[in-house]
Amino acid sequence: MAIPTKEDLGFDPDALREKYRIERDKRLRTDANEQYQEIKEEYAAFLDDPYIAHPTSRSPLTDEVEIAIIGGGFGGLIAGARLRELGFEDIRIIEKGGDFGGTWYWNRYPGAACDTEAYIYLPLLEELDYVPSQKYAHAPEILSHSQNIAKKYNLYENACLETEVTALNWDEPASRWIIQTNRDDKFKARFVIMSNGPLHRPKLPGIEGINSFRGHMFHTSRWDYGYTGGDSNGRLNGLKNKRVAIIGTGATAVQCTPHVGESAKQLYVFQRTPSSIDVRANRKTDPHWASQLKPGWQKERMENFNILCSGGVVEEDLVKDGWTEIIRNLISMANYRGENTNWDEVPKLMEIADFQKMEQIRNRAAELVNDSKTAESLKPYYRQFCKRPCFHDSYLQTFNRPSVELVDTNGKGVERITNNGVLAGGKEYEVDCIIFATGFEVGTSYVRRSGYDVTGRHGMTLSEKWADGMRTLHGVMTNGFPNLFIISNSQAGFTTNFPHAMDETSRHIGYMLKQCEKERLSSIEASKEAEDEWVDEIIAVSRFASDFQESCTPGYYNNEGKPNPKSVQNGPYGKGSRPYFRITAAWREEGNMSGILKSP
Ligand code: NDP
Repeated sequence: MAIPTKEDLGFDPDALREKYRIERDKRLRTDANEQYQEIKEEYAAFLDDPYIAHPTSRSPLTDEVEIAIIGGGFGGLIAGARLRELGFEDIRIIEKGGDFGGTWYWNRYPGAACDTEAYIYLPLLEELDYVPSQKYAHAPEILSHSQNIAKKYNLYENACLETEVTALNWDEPASRWIIQTNRDDKFKARFVIMSNGPLHRPKLPGIEGINSFRGHMFHTSRWDYGYTGGDSNGRLNGLKNKRVAIIGTGATAVQCTPHVGESAKQLYVFQRTPSSIDVRANRKTDPHWASQLKPGWQKERMENFNILCSGGVVEEDLVKDGWTEIIRNLISMANYRGENTNWDEVPKLMEIADFQKMEQIRNRAAELVNDSKTAESLKPYYRQFCKRPCFHDSYLQTFNRPSVELVDTNGKGVERITNNGVLAGGKEYEVDCIIFATGFEVGTSYVRRSGYDVTGRHGMTLSEKWADGMRTLHGVMTNGFPNLFIISNSQAGFTTNFPHAMDETSRHIGYMLKQCEKERLSSIEASKEAEDEWVDEIIAVSRFASDFQESCTPGYYNNEGKPNPKSVQNGPYGKGSRPYFRITAAWREEGNMSGILKSP
């Protein structure tokens, strides 16, 4: 396929590339990921759980369980469910929230919903005989589904909710893990599964004055309905007479802004970088379609989505949404499945497909927003996957309300918080309430994010072991840390539909635990050789493209503009999730747990 000219395209790719560069440069900062304020000490109140009326009290635990799972989000729930199916009974899930659900426990802000289709995103639908009510489920339905999984698989039994792990130490003579928590627990577990979650530690902008503000403040992941009134559907009556600031315009702000805009007397939305906002087109589930679903339908749909999102070809796109469309367009433009593919041209054609998509997104802002200056501010100038694409049908229109003002900080962000409000562009905006939609820690150390370190054999800590990068076998086990399993994307399979990968990893862990039972093993551990081989493979097939990352506007995808060379080693398996799932399945097929040291 020939490269289209600017006349064919109706825009000048060189001019756009230059505009993207200018916009990125405006936002680059030397402090990169260090710019944020960690939530601790004087800011610790931002982490308080607003969803628990009265913390439950209980006596510290000093007992022993067979399997401890850290994290009661989707990873922990799926692992718990799959292990129950395999007949494991003695399971304890430890979760810092007051209930199961993980991100869906914490993120209850008005409008919260998942952008991945509910029929593939909600785990274990067939097992629970449940079909979500809409194509894109809202947070309360996802939270309630999480609780239903926990009920169905009896995971409330023996669970420690409202409990944070503070230390995990391997007791060599006893061949057990000792788990300590902020509830003074000190109990033992034979096996531990860590499913800490990737985006769960809220962060604040590292600006001065936050605690000098005399009004009300909270982070979106701790929504204060006591102050705002209303519920996840909006109708925030408590804001009727309030002037409100929302700081941040990422996926969270995009979903809550329309509700705050509808309810508040005055809303200022402080923007550093606009998100790309495509069409949502949510719809209710057709009961006829739901009644016709054949057994195995969810797995088939998940795989269909994953094949498409990995650049594969399927006869029919079952999910047919914004995600699959993005990938389909990129592939069809680059024609890299065609017979006459010119491989040198593929990256250029992909870039053009991206420009076209983003032109469409920018035109959408111009069409939907009445004030042309505001519309211009809302146009994102970067490649679509530099930031997380968003989908919403009323965010942009919210700026047509006379009571809503977009404060475009021209890439600089808010400067400080004053006693009375927010300072940006040298102007103070007086408000009664500040809502921080400033996201979650990414790229900080594993220990800081998980809240505990792990001490394995010979007193070696995980933070020491991983100081120069992660080292694992298949992303799941690590040498020196027996009977410890990890559920994460790093050095494992990555897919846009996270629960799909979590399910594969849970089955993989289940297989290993079952083998321990069959072979009467007291402990298993990745061998150093197998781990080294896997890490070499991860590095060799990494798709971490530092050029692309560097050309991107700063954000958590590119370590705030300073791409981290460790991402090559700490990233997912570069050939994609499908080959990764095949590798782990073949490894299980082999049946001898190759690369695992076994202790009787
Ligand atoms: P993000 O990290 O995506 O967004 C944080 C926002 O805060 C950005 O707009 C950022 O600007 C802004 N910000 C940071 N510092 C300042 C400052 N000093 N002044 C002004 N603005 C500032 O967090 P989110 O909570 O929005 O989303 C996190 C992730 O959670 C998403 O990427 C997605 O993976 C997931 N999510 C998914 C949802 C869904 O499925 N619909 C909904 C919500 C979240 P800048 O861009 O310039 O850095």
